[in-house]
Amino acid sequence: MIKIANYINGEHLPAQSENYLDNYDPSTGKVYSLIPESDALDVEAAVAAAKKAFPKWSSCGVEERYRIMNRIADLIGENMEELARAESRDSGKAISLSRAVDIPRAESNIRFFATAILHFGSESYHMEGLAVNYVLRQPIGIVGCISPWNLPLYLFTWKIAPALATGNCVIAKPSEMTPMTAYLFSKICVEAGLPPGVLNIVHGLGPKAGQAIVEHPKIKAVSFTGGTNTGKILARTAAPMFKKLSLELGGKNPNIIFADCDFERAVRTTVRSSFANNGQICLCGSRVYIERPIYEKFRDELVKRVKSLKVGNPFEEDTVQGALVSKQHREKVLGYLELAKEEGGSILCGGETVSPDGEYSEGYYLSPAIIEGLPNACRTNQEEIFGPVVTLQPFDTEEEALELANGVQYGLASTIWTQDIQRASRMAEKIEAGIVWINCWLLRDLRTPFGGVKDSGVGREGGMEALRFFTEPKNVCVRY
Ligand code: NAD
Repeated sequence: MIKIANYINGEHLPAQSENYLDNYDPSTGKVYSLIPESDALDVEAAVAAAKKAFPKWSSCGVEERYRIMNRIADLIGENMEELARAESRDSGKAISLSRAVDIPRAESNIRFFATAILHFGSESYHMEGLAVNYVLRQPIGIVGCISPWNLPLYLFTWKIAPALATGNCVIAKPSEMTPMTAYLFSKICVEAGLPPGVLNIVHGLGPKAGQAIVEHPKIKAVSFTGGTNTGKILARTAAPMFKKLSLELGGKNPNIIFADCDFERAVRTTVRSSFANNGQICLCGSRVYIERPIYEKFRDELVKRVKSLKVGNPFEEDTVQGALVSKQHREKVLGYLELAKEEGGSILCGGETVSPDGEYSEGYYLSPAIIEGLPNACRTNQEEIFGPVVTLQPFDTEEEALELANGVQYGLASTIWTQDIQRASRMAEKIEAGIVWINCWLLRDLRTPFGGVKDSGVGREGGMEALRFFTEPKNVCVRY
């Protein structure tokens, strides 16, 4: 049984309590490793290590930080297959997805911010004949990064890379559901020569280890990705301590499909945008709005293609849908399918547990479900399910589509399918979301701002936004 270790002050250590949590392989339903159950004592040790490391790391110069981070990125690339297999074992996702998306993106995240820091500048303001103001962008000090289970190494690195590049020391906690690749990553950091204490990884439960990070007085900023309710708890703790907070929270994203869309591309992409990673991506569209003239045609084609997606053993090359992340999560999704029926919805396909042969028979599999016949205001259409479930609704006008799309408390991402660029641009302006994809989905340029509005979060990550978040601007005014 693999024992995962914390990474504190450059060393791999058990939790001080010496307690462990079981880590399940969702593809088999069996415990396959143990996670340190850390608490405030471990966070305290991590903060002490970070405090010691900060003066040198924050002043070693961007070239040195670039060199070490770039080496970390190289090592992720060199260990791609091992990391991809570990990610799929830990999260249940199809190996094809871990290979194509999760691990390559983790490598890109580190490399992107390693190089971005070489080009990061600050502004100056000239008061003619009188003075010049320049802005120093200094690291905050010790920062916390807390990430979820759906894109484990991808989101973990997305946070810590800009934090490290800007000269901060980091206390990070991956999700207790998917800690394995963060552990493997900590070994890569040692190999790459990251100085002890610069990055510290504390494993364990959110309300214990996570809460200890959020409430530690020496941790001055917290970047969090996770559920909206957890975000509220974090904000309650961090706001009175005046911590800088970045909250990337839940979504209930609309896909708006007009009759003049490129039908083939729209259907093909909607299969992906609905069900990639079993719908467990915050950017997946879960409400599909289809203009009435093509409603039946689009629905029937979508159902046909979704029925053919292979669900099962994530390590088979042609599997598209692996296992859901946990038994509890599958129960939650099944509960929503029951609710959808009670609310009057018809399940057009899927929504059934799947039991593959042999050692995978106890895994948490669920066939992808498409539902129609539900009003926009019902709970199924309002609450985040975060599983392989989408609903379909017809619409008649652009105004109606906009009203339906904006009629939820969330505002993370959206997609619009139309050949009419004027209409698409009009819609993009009015849609309440941090990201609008027109005739595409999940096309990401790491320089762009990333985040949500309404209950989907506060603040932006990505590109310069992330570098700004992890620095404190100081205005210096020099009088002539
Ligand atoms: P979660 O909120 O349960 O947990 C996220 C992380 O927070 C975990 O590491 C957890 O241990 C920790 N945590 C839990 N309670 C805590 C507390 N009191 N204090 C500090 N840390 C705590 O979320 P999840 O179930 O892991 O992830 C799924 C959610 O994440 C979905 O709602 C999804 O939409 C959202 N998500 C959002 C984005 C985005 O970019 N907006 C990206 C991915 C996932």
